[in-house]
Amino acid sequence: MIPYGRQTISEADIQAVVEVLRSDFLTQGPAVPAFESAVANYCGAQYACAVNSATSALHIACLALGVGKGDSVWTSPITFVASANCVLYCGADVDFVDIDPRTYNISVECLAAKLAQAEKTGNLPKVVIPVHLSGQSCDMEAIHRLSQQYGFNIIEDASHAIGAQYRGQSVGNCRYSDITVFSFHPVKIITTGEGGMALTNDAGLARRMQLLRSHGITRETSEMTHDADGSWYYQQIALGFNYRLTDFQAALGLSQMQRLDEFVATRHALAKRYDDLLSHLPVAIPWQHSDSYSALHLYVIRLRLNAINKTHSELFELLRAEGVGVNLHYIPVYWQPYYQEMGFKIGYCPEAERYYGEAISLPIYPGLTETQQNQVVLALRKAVTV
Ligand SMILES: *Cc1c(COP(=O)(O)O)cnc(C)c1O
Repeated sequence: MIPYGRQTISEADIQAVVEVLRSDFLTQGPAVPAFESAVANYCGAQYACAVNSATSALHIACLALGVGKGDSVWTSPITFVASANCVLYCGADVDFVDIDPRTYNISVECLAAKLAQAEKTGNLPKVVIPVHLSGQSCDMEAIHRLSQQYGFNIIEDASHAIGAQYRGQSVGNCRYSDITVFSFHPVKIITTGEGGMALTNDAGLARRMQLLRSHGITRETSEMTHDADGSWYYQQIALGFNYRLTDFQAALGLSQMQRLDEFVATRHALAKRYDDLLSHLPVAIPWQHSDSYSALHLYVIRLRLNAINKTHSELFELLRAEGVGVNLHYIPVYWQPYYQEMGFKIGYCPEAERYYGEAISLPIYPGLTETQQNQVVLALRKAVTV
């Protein structure tokens, strides 16, 4: 089965990990800060905090911004559940804003309308979490403008988008947000096995996230409530977690960073090839905003079902039977039973639901060969025309 995404591991990556395994530190050594610096420098952000997953990064990003009971946080329904779950971990309420019909990212128009309504009823969000779906940036300038008008903070869920650009600048520079989060899960653009990172330009937020990733413990005397008892001394000053990334994972990430631009360029070449090969089929290819250079984590097509004599799920099964590991990103989060129990109703975000009924993620990753890609296109052509 051709997967929809997979990692690309080189001999240099393996060597980098082995070197750490032979060193003194498997965790809390020099590789983590080196990886953090590499990502922060690449993106043009001041601070980076590496953690064991993007889910953890989203959690401590929310906590660092003070999200708690009684607060409301809004995100897109077309995302992985972690973008919303992080809000619930903090005891806050999550709500969803419908998507843009072209980018499938959070709709700025829907966000503006919902904010105007929320202002009247006095329940404006504390934080909005735009998700850069497939690696294409949301309209951050517009969302940032709304944040200034209505007074909320912004966490970019850029799990798909390391290596992407928005208006010629790297996603992750936090120019239009408080914090940006990346994921290094194997299907994402670069990998550390499991792993994530939170970037920010705010020293206070960076410090709070550092504390929260390691039990809320400090060894800085300036942060302690009284002088240290001795050189062994540390203080717990917040309720943190063990969200640390290991040094051998960071070494893998650092090694992968050297090929980030190449990975994204290869994804673009593959996407361009799909665009051409699919142009005569009854499917919509991914629309790209001119402000955006996508990282192309996903290549999502939408079926024009009125021109195809099969259902969405029939097509899915036909493709999988042909060895094409298609996937669907994503089921609207509030359709999940856990969220349904919280009272979200089917029909809440109509554009997201329409998308869910038509979307298919085709395989895309740097190691995908042209032969494999041809096999995907052939299987799709057969499925939509027969
Ligand atoms: C993968 C992903 C996450 C979670 O990432 P992990 O590193 O697996 O925790 C969160 N949000 C989005 C949009 C993702 O795609």
